[in-house]
Amino acid sequence: MELFIGSHLSTTGGWNALLKRSRDEDGTAFAFFPRSPYGKRSKALNPAQAGEFGARLKAEGYGPLVVHAPYVYNLAGKDEAKRQFAIEALIEDIELLTPIREAGQETYINIHPGSHVGQGAETGCRLISDGLNQVIERANGIPVLLETMAGKGTECGRSFEELATIMSGIENKANIGITFDTCHVFDAGYDLVNDYDDVMSQLDETIGLNTVKAIHVNDSQFGLSSHKDRHANIGNGQLGIPFFTRLVNDPVMAKLPMILETKEQTQDTHREEITLLRSLVNQQ
Ligand SMILES: [Zn+2]
Repeated sequence: MELFIGSHLSTTGGWNALLKRSRDEDGTAFAFFPRSPYGKRSKALNPAQAGEFGARLKAEGYGPLVVHAPYVYNLAGKDEAKRQFAIEALIEDIELLTPIREAGQETYINIHPGSHVGQGAETGCRLISDGLNQVIERANGIPVLLETMAGKGTECGRSFEELATIMSGIENKANIGITFDTCHVFDAGYDLVNDYDDVMSQLDETIGLNTVKAIHVNDSQFGLSSHKDRHANIGNGQLGIPFFTRLVNDPVMAKLPMILETKEQTQDTHREEITLLRSLVNQQ
């Protein structure tokens, strides 16, 4: 089976430059930030050309596009203005991306659910559901994917149960899903190395495997339950090659777009990691 795989790419130079970077790494999927990491609108991504970009991805057989919302959004923030900024910015992002989906290219926007900053996980989860309900009511062109988090600081979404709680508060379930980050899940305390099948059945029972729409494929610098969120290059961390072999041969997971968020040690790092992961298919 052919993997849909690629890395998180820079948008410098706009839509065409994104595609060129993807070809250079021999990718069949990729991610990007729709705006600057600090939340400023991107000048490189001209909204008028988004539809054309989507049509090209579709024509070239790309896997689902999984855009990554900037880290500054905090739907669980203490400050009302901060939460409102996240809502408005997410709506703008969805509006930018909607023509891509309308051109026939499957597209998602992935977000870090948010950090409750001391308000408690219960309040955090509720604020996130409330914020997303407002987003989805005003802009429903692109489904939002909640990323599984490592549980660093006061992050919400550190367990499958917390993600299930957030999802249960969302009115329009068709517009919400999950991104499975391999490093974060392991870091959060799910032993993907020794108990892969168990973790997957827990995920299925708590949230439902059918809600998982994308994977962030990252190795982990630190061990199980370390809550550090430090990605390592594929095969150079605590997850290791046997785990990634398992993942790319899992008939459910291997169908999903796989996005590398690993450090580029050289210009060729991502191309090599893509080749490595492809080479593990049928090696089990
Ligand atoms: Zn992320």
